[in-house]
Amino acid sequence: MHQLAIRNVHVLDGSGRAPFLGDVAIDAGRLVEVGEIGAARRNVDGRGRTLAPGFIDAHTHDDGALLRHPSMWFKVSQGVTTVVVGNCGFGAVASARSPATRSMLSLSPTWIDLAGYRAAIESSPPALNAIALVGHNTLREATLGLESRRASAAEMATMRSTVASAMEQGACGISTGLLYAPGAWAPEDELVPLTEAVAPFGGIYVSHVRDEFDGLLASVDEALRIGQQAGVPTHVSHHKAAGRSNWGMVPRSLERIDDAVMSGQDVTLDAYPYTAGSGPMAQYFRNGIDPGLAEGMRIASCPSLPHYEGRMLVDLAAEQGCSLEDVVRQILDAPDADQAICLQFLADEGDIEANLRHPRVMIGSDGIPELRGKPHPRLVGTFSRVLGVYVRQRRVCSLPEMVRRMTSLPAQRFGLAGRGRIEPGFHADLVLFDPATVVDAATYDEPLRPSVGIELVMVGGEVVWREGHATSARPGRLLAHELGATIAP
Ligand SMILES: [Zn+2]
Repeated sequence: MHQLAIRNVHVLDGSGRAPFLGDVAIDAGRLVEVGEIGAARRNVDGRGRTLAPGFIDAHTHDDGALLRHPSMWFKVSQGVTTVVVGNCGFGAVASARSPATRSMLSLSPTWIDLAGYRAAIESSPPALNAIALVGHNTLREATLGLESRRASAAEMATMRSTVASAMEQGACGISTGLLYAPGAWAPEDELVPLTEAVAPFGGIYVSHVRDEFDGLLASVDEALRIGQQAGVPTHVSHHKAAGRSNWGMVPRSLERIDDAVMSGQDVTLDAYPYTAGSGPMAQYFRNGIDPGLAEGMRIASCPSLPHYEGRMLVDLAAEQGCSLEDVVRQILDAPDADQAICLQFLADEGDIEANLRHPRVMIGSDGIPELRGKPHPRLVGTFSRVLGVYVRQRRVCSLPEMVRRMTSLPAQRFGLAGRGRIEPGFHADLVLFDPATVVDAATYDEPLRPSVGIELVMVGGEVVWREGHATSARPGRLLAHELGATIAP
């Protein structure tokens, strides 16, 4: 007799093949039978809905949120059961010595290494699972401070050994955020040896590339070179062409990636389904105030000037009869300026669709889990928006294929053994949804509205989300990377 059965569901197993009608049985947190199954003590009627492996959010900044918001309702409500943290070069490893990271991720580290971060998570577990990257910005600040100079041989050795020990403790690779300080000051010949340190562990190189604006193609080339020279797979984060003059560049950038794959490199990407980006405002104006960038900018959260939240900078400037630069300066001169988060409308809808059509693009929300003000709706809506708007309404990609790219593909990429498939022996991380109604409800003005059509979400066989509400179950863990298979061309 099984512990639990979910019956009468269309099983989308994560492989990309068409769904089949059947039941699944779960014992001790794992799937044990799929298709025709025996009797069970507890039975859930799936009413013909679709059952898929829980979605894997390939790109998040949830390092602090796992501890501050353990229900993780903004993720489980869209069907996400695992998040990849430590992105854009900022992560938990070495964060005790990186004030920039602590502020950006709202972390209060009591730990010194990944094992310590895991222990902190175990003492207050979240609803879903996570896997961590080592962040290069964090590592660099912890080692060199915020200094714009080359690392010495001794500093390189320190950073390399921190990367290697984090890999031993289960990190899945190293991430860079080369737009941001201090990563922007790192030359390529610093990044290659640090990336080499993940190679013996089967780790990967994940990059927020140096320039997503005019320099996109050169920056993608740099990421490919670093992965190739270090001998590890490359993963490009939140792939986009920013700035109106660069719209339409995504297909060209994808061609570069296709060429690299054809020549034998292992490359993947993630993207989110919105034309706006978001991040810490101070970082975008590090080198002066660019009025072109400020023009498309809106304030997400700003603790010192909360009445600016949800407002476009152009409207604030018009209202006050001052220049865009003046408004930016007001915000950056206010106390807690490092907490000011903005949205920038900078990408093209056609480029988003090009990303979502590509077989190596997975989904990464890039959400910033700051729930005050008007955060970017991608935090709450990404996965259901892809399924509702891009798969059902616009038919950019088939449902089985998109579910593959939300499940088994990222599981392989990030070394998550036993996850991302509905198969006997796999963990029972599952989402039950209605493909006919699933869609995001979070908007720029009402960014915290949970999605529609996500009926039941399980992590390790425990229900964490049911019909619009988070449960009190906290089965999540910080997972350890296991040597992943490479992704064949
Ligand atoms: Zn980034």
